[in-house]
Amino acid sequence: MRHICFLLIGTAAFSSGQVFTPSNPAALAARQYRQQHERPIVDEFISLLAIPNIASDGVNIKRNADFIAQMLQKRGITPRLITVPGANPVVFGEIKTPGATRTIVLYAHYDGQPLDPKEWATPPFTPALRDKQYEKDGQVISLPASGVRFNPEWRLYARGAADDKAPIVAIMAALDAIKSAGLKTKSNLKFAFEGEEEAGSPNFEKILAANRELFAGDVWLSCDGPLHQSRRQLLTFGDRGISTVDLTVYGPRGELHSGHYGNWAPNPAMMLARLLTSMKDDNGRVLIDHFYDGIEPLSESEKRAVAEAPDMGPELMRELWLGATENAPRKLAELITVPSLNIRGMASSRVGNQASNVIPATATATIDMRLVKGMKADQTANRFIEHVRRQGYFVVDHEPTAEIRLSHPKVAWIVRGHAENPHRLSMDLPVFQDVIRTVESARGPTVKTPNSGGTGPDAAGQTLGIPEVSVPIGNHDNNQHSYNENLRIQNLWDGIELMAALLTM
Ligand SMILES: [Zn+2]
Repeated sequence: MRHICFLLIGTAAFSSGQVFTPSNPAALAARQYRQQHERPIVDEFISLLAIPNIASDGVNIKRNADFIAQMLQKRGITPRLITVPGANPVVFGEIKTPGATRTIVLYAHYDGQPLDPKEWATPPFTPALRDKQYEKDGQVISLPASGVRFNPEWRLYARGAADDKAPIVAIMAALDAIKSAGLKTKSNLKFAFEGEEEAGSPNFEKILAANRELFAGDVWLSCDGPLHQSRRQLLTFGDRGISTVDLTVYGPRGELHSGHYGNWAPNPAMMLARLLTSMKDDNGRVLIDHFYDGIEPLSESEKRAVAEAPDMGPELMRELWLGATENAPRKLAELITVPSLNIRGMASSRVGNQASNVIPATATATIDMRLVKGMKADQTANRFIEHVRRQGYFVVDHEPTAEIRLSHPKVAWIVRGHAENPHRLSMDLPVFQDVIRTVESARGPTVKTPNSGGTGPDAAGQTLGIPEVSVPIGNHDNNQHSYNENLRIQNLWDGIELMAALLTM
């Protein structure tokens, strides 16, 4: 999941708080075990990170899958590589617990975002330990000798370090810790490690649909993505949907001399600007008719969770050089639970020293609308198109011909793009309440968001009908999807304790 980028704050340094002492026995056992095995845990992590993991690189993807299969095997779990023609395999494993009445599926993905090695400070598949963040002048250091403790603020740099190989390593270390402490599992456990999430999971639903029994369970824990910027544990119960459009409006057939034709030939850049400003008011409210219709309001628990989420606004504003925010004073945690309309980019002719004294021929904007539960992607695109019509435009779904442009004063070409419906489950579901309790017993008070700001498919829900909650472990400033991706060592340690608690719930 979460294959639409999160906004990540590369250099943010928010208060880390104190190390929480878990009340959960498995989390405590995991802490003790980890303190005695830091180097071997990191060594296994480094071996996994050293295998290139771009989804299109079939040979290395297979090496990753085989390596993870061996990791399972070492823990006494029989691995299976599950695939459909043309797909990268899902590495699957399972622990059957006698007498268990519940099955928990833990999901992570082992592939990573494509990259350009030239942008990286150290090669992306040669994991490097730094004594702090690269952006804060962190230097590459050698691994501590076996038995010597890691500084929890050190960071491991490699593609996939945070997104999303860390949870796989955390699960394995947690399994070792549980075994070493003689603790027992109470639920049946299944592990599903996907190999093409960053390529948009083209086959994941097919793989699930073809293996319903295998992947069936009572709750799906998606171990992917970053923690809250406050560094508190985050739990997310859905995703926003998305509807994107490309919008082009037209002036003259070709660019015209602005002196000879200005005041006479319509300027498409100006037309586009007017059209776009008709869509949103100065406070950030979308003005498209019926845009907010049908939205399912937040429940009492969801409202409370949003109200209790730490307000990172002031720090984020400083970090991002923002003198104001939209929809003030409402906070970010609330605003991701409502839909948005965003201009991704605009283009018309050329600017700066590339500019000419012309009236442009066309102007284009790409727009994304993020949707929340109760909205539908197609319907939202329809409402957008209807709004453009209402501003006097003749709307076409293909490049307009001369005839069309001659017979209408204003013509807009709209191409529909990515469409995905939103999903959100109630955090009051009994199984989610169990997850929340367990996570909090390992990690302390959590930040709960009804839905993430980003968009992701609801594969488990749609295909298998399993309720899904996102349980990330990565640091918020992990440079996920970009160069110099990294994992803060403390996040790995916390992740192991979290997984130990979940594996024994
Ligand atoms: Zn991911």
